Amino acid sequence: MAVDAAKAPLNMDSPVTALKGVGRVRAEQLAALGIHTLKELLFYFPRSYEDRTHMATLGELEVGVPACFYAEVATVSKTAYIRKGLSMSRCTLTDGEVTLKAAWFNQPWITDRLLPGRRFCFYGTRSADEKRYDILNPVMEDPDSPPSQTRCIIPVYPLTAGLSSKMLGSLITQALEALSAPGSDAITETLPQSVLAGCSDRLLPLPEACREVHHPTESGRLQRARDRMVFEEFFRFSLGLGLMKERRSRISNYPCSEPCPQRFFDALPFALTGAQRRTLDEISHDLCSGSPMNRLVQGDVGSGKTMVALGAMLQAVANGYQAALMAPTELLAAQHYATISKFTEPLGISCVLLTGSMRTAQRRRTEDHIAVGAAKIIIGTHALFTGRIDFYHLGLVVIDEQHRFGVAQRAALAAKGNTPHMLVLSATPIPRTLALILYGDLDISIIDELPPGRQKIDTFLVDERYRQRLNGFIRQQAQEGHQVYVVCPAVEENQETEITSAEATAKALAAALPELKVGLVHGRLRSEAKDYAMQSFAEHKTDVLVATTVIEVGVDVPNATLMVIENADRFGLSQLHQLRGRVGRGGNKSWCILVSDNRNQETRKRLKTLCSTNDGFEISRQDLALRGPGDFFGQRQSGLPVFGVASLANDLGTLQLAQQAAKDFLEREPDRTDPLTGRLFADVAAMFAAADDTFN
Ligand code: ADP
Ligand code: MG
Repeated sequence: MAVDAAKAPLNMDSPVTALKGVGRVRAEQLAALGIHTLKELLFYFPRSYEDRTHMATLGELEVGVPACFYAEVATVSKTAYIRKGLSMSRCTLTDGEVTLKAAWFNQPWITDRLLPGRRFCFYGTRSADEKRYDILNPVMEDPDSPPSQTRCIIPVYPLTAGLSSKMLGSLITQALEALSAPGSDAITETLPQSVLAGCSDRLLPLPEACREVHHPTESGRLQRARDRMVFEEFFRFSLGLGLMKERRSRISNYPCSEPCPQRFFDALPFALTGAQRRTLDEISHDLCSGSPMNRLVQGDVGSGKTMVALGAMLQAVANGYQAALMAPTELLAAQHYATISKFTEPLGISCVLLTGSMRTAQRRRTEDHIAVGAAKIIIGTHALFTGRIDFYHLGLVVIDEQHRFGVAQRAALAAKGNTPHMLVLSATPIPRTLALILYGDLDISIIDELPPGRQKIDTFLVDERYRQRLNGFIRQQAQEGHQVYVVCPAVEENQETEITSAEATAKALAAALPELKVGLVHGRLRSEAKDYAMQSFAEHKTDVLVATTVIEVGVDVPNATLMVIENADRFGLSQLHQLRGRVGRGGNKSWCILVSDNRNQETRKRLKTLCSTNDGFEISRQDLALRGPGDFFGQRQSGLPVFGVASLANDLGTLQLAQQAAKDFLEREPDRTDPLTGRLFADVAAMFAAADDTFN
């Protein structure tokens, strides 16, 4: 007893082991969910809710619609043991007007509670199988005790091995009770007063929001409570972005007063577009500015981002530093290497390719070149930064086509080494709100002009009936000396079906068009085989390249004039637009044929968008409107931060509010020695540092 009395009251920082029933094993299970303290427990939010507030009389119960109802036990039957492991307990329930049969499987103890004449509140669903029972396995509780299983909204927590939603719920209830014992409200506010005051009409105070989120009383209040939690999550995230931005005011370790060599521009086979020149000027200005560059270059497919990146890298090299270009796939890295080394060789600048699949000896040699500084421009996949690569003097990192690299990865990358200049290239034009999430820490340049002579890529939507004519069209393109891509999606969500469909398509094409040479490339080929297939296509040794989405980004074969996309409905619009950008790169009239048998009106409307415009920004706007941001990024979502309660699909309004609040807050230059503020900044820094270990 004495020990209990001496126990310090719990607070938000108390360990979960302070709760009853949390021993070593539970604590480990909770730790696996990132929960160590009571605060972390309270910030572990329900995945969804089951609304059990709908009340009905027995007569009003509808088949298939769950509801709560009061009823009295009329008659009880003996539990029947139907076979081993299966028992059934039954009773009849009445409310004076209507009588129904209720049954429970495998809960023989329930008959102890089912005493004739006893009244309960039940929650259950009227069954269609009225021969055997009207209601199966209803939940029941004493109508006079406070609602906990009926007449309330039940939180459903994400399940993980060993911890049920119910267990989490009861631990959270315990924590809430311990922390809000009368007179000792220990749920302390986590948002600065000034922020709360700024949005007071919307934001519930934390104690109230916490209780409502875990023990909802009413759906309107629950919504407000959830909004407050969403706000807090977005606020912290936006604050993190703001802090990353602040780091830029640091002095750069890589000042670049020397410009990009004029010889490079003189040697270009074309004049840069106005947008390319403007972007290069902005980059050059950043590199000289004395602070580390953090810039995003957004430009539609084919707008010529590679040359811009090369210009930036050459400026870094001219100032004595190394520059690295990170591509998302080995294929792209190889292609960049081929393009870029053509320009660097005549300038006498050493450019190397470094990928994960290189042979050990060759890789070692390349790594040595990098370590001693002989290699100036280094091109690779992000494997570049996972190994123990020793750069000699890395001054600039370019990340190409990068929704795969999120804010957190950039933070990790920036924290590595000496904060090199950073340039991010993206071909997916995205709406401003999302751009702020993905790239809120970056300055933005937009290449809004295509090189001259580009023609509109005529795009058509066809179905299987068109197959013969499509093959004829492929043949005709080949006869005119051009080349054709055929892209196959995954039929289900796995790589296996993607490969099967590509293999089958290649076979069918080879059979239908025996005079053409058909190549095949997919993700599971060994990298030599992949390179070989790509190289053969680039050198026009094959006429048709059947591919999975491995070719999605970046590959450049100017002689290709036809892009056929099988089962086009399986792709997002922005992804289709990316794929289409693989043709029309050489000034020849080019086409894109979308093949789909999908008859769904919405789907056809979506695909038709692509037929009506070539403008990437317009397409992404429509894609977003039609599918919402969740699907918008599709499988490339990985660059998006993961939020606990906030949803990028539904909470964009709150996001804007939180972004503005974070900006205002930072502008007020908050006192970081204030305990709450200090804590907030420390939490945010830790969140960003821990978010991703790709580069660690
Ligand atoms: P993306 O922005 O999609 O990465 P690339 O950098 O691959 O585009 O450029 C697409 C093609 O356009 C390449 O073949 C490139 O050589 C060519 N290109 C780039 N800039 C120009 C320009 N100013 N004039 C003509 N062609 C250009
Ligand atoms: Mg590119």
